[in-house]
Amino acid sequence: MAPRFDLVVKGGRVVDPAQQIDDLLDVGVRRGRVVELGPDLAPADASGTRIVDASGGLVVPGLVDIHAHVYSGVCPLTVPADEMSSQTGVTTIVSAGDAGANTIEGFRQLIVNASRTRVLAFLNISTIGLASFPVGESLELGLLDVDAAATAISRFPDVIVGLKVRQGGASVTGSNGLEPMRRALVVGRAVGLPVMVHITDCDAPIDELLAMLGTGDIVTHCFTGSAHSLRQNGRLTAAATDARARGVLFDVGHGAGSFDFDVADIAAKSDFWPDTISTDLHSISASKAKSLPDVMSKMLAIGMPLKAVIAAVTSKAARAIGRADRLGTLRPGVVADIAVLDLHHEQVQLSDTFGHTRSGQERLTARLTIRAGAVWGAPSHPGMGVAVLAE
Ligand SMILES: [Zn+2]
Repeated sequence: MAPRFDLVVKGGRVVDPAQQIDDLLDVGVRRGRVVELGPDLAPADASGTRIVDASGGLVVPGLVDIHAHVYSGVCPLTVPADEMSSQTGVTTIVSAGDAGANTIEGFRQLIVNASRTRVLAFLNISTIGLASFPVGESLELGLLDVDAAATAISRFPDVIVGLKVRQGGASVTGSNGLEPMRRALVVGRAVGLPVMVHITDCDAPIDELLAMLGTGDIVTHCFTGSAHSLRQNGRLTAAATDARARGVLFDVGHGAGSFDFDVADIAAKSDFWPDTISTDLHSISASKAKSLPDVMSKMLAIGMPLKAVIAAVTSKAARAIGRADRLGTLRPGVVADIAVLDLHHEQVQLSDTFGHTRSGQERLTARLTIRAGAVWGAPSHPGMGVAVLAE
């Protein structure tokens, strides 16, 4: 008789915010999907069942990083998705604007289809995406093609989860002001998808920018220390709390120059925690935002509660990209993307990208990454191919 489970993740503290679970449980996996959560699902010697010892660890849904750069071979500054994921607990990466309408088909072929990581995309409102970097993709209004973006979204609904626009100041938008974001919002409203807006070095007043956003839109680099940030006159701008009340989401997007502990501390004083935590990993930022667990550790250091930190990379991240029904949870039936994390209670020195450091008392690292029921780096698992094709 076939064993009940192909794999059991045993003895860890399961934290699944989507199901409000925080308990010592085993996770049973069969044919690449989660089939059961419960105590003592399999004896340690169950033949035919691989047992992963998670004791002492946190067992959470595979982490979802909603802002990273992975279009290797087409855009500069990218890092291959599987290099970011395999050792970090991340199982889903969302490329934040690497591809635009002219380059999304290649993105699907070269990156989405070729990666073991699940890769999704925010489509850049500029048809060329970030392929022209460091020349700004929104300098020419002719590149901000509303119809082309809408067509691309209709062709690739399995890949595209929203739109991306960089309101990154003169080097990105020239003299076009907030027109790039306005056009992204036109498309987003027409197709019912969120717009992710990069705010670092924005040259428009932040209150004006925030006022244009609505439910589900995402402000990334939310703790940037650049001039037009959420910090105005040393405090959190009221426009940020107004925007949150309307359903606008705030994403960390750490990156190489977009995370300032001073701004994060100001937000923390108001319990203004980020909705989602992301790395903005690319080849320059990789030395600063080393991994998603590293950025999560920085949120712990500013006082964000552990369960909120986990929700921000699982249930809330999945909801932000419209995938809460299938990602960011260990609900029976979903693809078995699972991370085993270790929470080390130790003194740790953490740096931002504005020259500040903080010492924290806790550090998160990834012990194990499981993608579609297969332990990453382990020999191919019987359930692996089935699940990846079926999801
Ligand atoms: Zn980015």
